[in-house]
Amino acid sequence: MAALDNATNFQLDEAHIRLRNTVRDLAKKEISPLAKRMDMNQEFPSGLFQRLAQLGYAGTGIPPEYQGSFSDYLAVVLIGEELARVSASVPVALFPHAMLCAHNVYLSGTQSQKERYLPILASGKKWGAMALAEVSAGSDILSIRTKASKSKGGYVLKGAKTFVTNAPFAEIYLVFARTSAGRGPEGISAFILEKGYPGFKTGKVFDKMGMRGSPTGRIYLKNCEASEANLLGGTEGKGYEQLLAGMDAERVSWASIALGIAQASFENTMNYARRRKQFGKPIASFQMIQGAMADMAVTLQAARLLTYNAANLLDHGKQARIEASSAKLFSAEAAVKISGDAVQIYGGAGYTKDYAVERYFRDAKVLTVAAGSSEIQRLIIAHELKEHQEKAFGGHQ
Ligand SMILES: Cc1cc2nc3c(=O)[nH]c(=O)nc-3n(C[C@H](O)[C@H](O)[C@H](O)COP(=O)(O)OP(=O)(O)OC[C@H]3O[C@@H](n4cnc5c(N)ncnc54)[C@H](O)[C@@H]3O)c2cc1C
Repeated sequence: MAALDNATNFQLDEAHIRLRNTVRDLAKKEISPLAKRMDMNQEFPSGLFQRLAQLGYAGTGIPPEYQGSFSDYLAVVLIGEELARVSASVPVALFPHAMLCAHNVYLSGTQSQKERYLPILASGKKWGAMALAEVSAGSDILSIRTKASKSKGGYVLKGAKTFVTNAPFAEIYLVFARTSAGRGPEGISAFILEKGYPGFKTGKVFDKMGMRGSPTGRIYLKNCEASEANLLGGTEGKGYEQLLAGMDAERVSWASIALGIAQASFENTMNYARRRKQFGKPIASFQMIQGAMADMAVTLQAARLLTYNAANLLDHGKQARIEASSAKLFSAEAAVKISGDAVQIYGGAGYTKDYAVERYFRDAKVLTVAAGSSEIQRLIIAHELKEHQEKAFGGHQ
């Protein structure tokens, strides 16, 4: 069994262990051989989507009543972790489809939206994406400028979205736009748009440092026509609330990707340090290397416990804003630190493409930036702590 295997430090039930082993097997046999090529060529093989869909993973965020495979958030974490262990680009493409798009439609959509879209997304017939960020609105999501104006029988959307994961091939997009002027959250609405709608265009695809197997691009809405049935939940002005409803799950899913990268970096380094000899001894026998390995192990375990705990709270219907942000913040930073330490311990070899640790290092970095940067997670945690304190002490201390 691999060092620091996730079953060793958290109570997983039999179904979770079975799921973890199945995904691990798939990742090892079918994804691992593709990982390097996906990174080099900056492509997500279409056959891999079909395979993920065939095995039920396209329905990761969708419950069985809509033909998906969602059971709980801990299962989502195990899937993310095991896939990221061989190629982080795979869950980075899967989760915007399954969690950011489909799961949010499940959480906030009308009954007819769920019936129309969830089975198509669950079967992988169509791939999904979520488009919130704009060139001038990243961390400051309330500053989005994309407008949705009322028209006869529906809406006309004007604007552009950037950094949309899956943009080149996704066909169903959850798009956030302003339905009223001003900066308030009450002016934001979410729409389910399809690629073929008049005025909908995909654009530039970014040449990225890491997660190169997962395409990220722009979309343009040039008087894009949508009907009233495309308004998520059927009520205007609920977009921000709907975004927050799925945000903790999104953060936990991103934390799981960090765990996979950190686990792979740690395992590879343990093996390399035992094999690599300098001064007539394996470098693993040097105390400074042992100290670094111990720090990697402790950091990895802490990240995993934070992430599983946050997933577990969500699974019990508990409030988990601080815990989900803590998991995202700590795990993302842990993945950067652990993969960076892996490159260090590999020495010059770690700086070449002969070893996967350089990919892990490049892939890890985006986790502290996207889906709410580390700074934004700290702001959220600080804000929540203040709220808790005010509730507990009524502002008097
Ligand atoms: C590979 C990738 C995939 C992505 N996928 C998607 C997607 O599918 N859908 C989508 O909508 N978006 C997506 N994004 C966008 C992502 O969520 C944003 O990049 C992220 O929110 C940060 O916004 P920004 O890049 O504009 O940085 P900025 O907001 O410009 O931030 C720049 C820096 O300033 C810091 N900063 C900003 N505000 C504060 C503050 N108040 N206090 C302290 N520091 C602050 C940030 O932490 C950051 O370090 C993706 C991004 C990447 C890189």
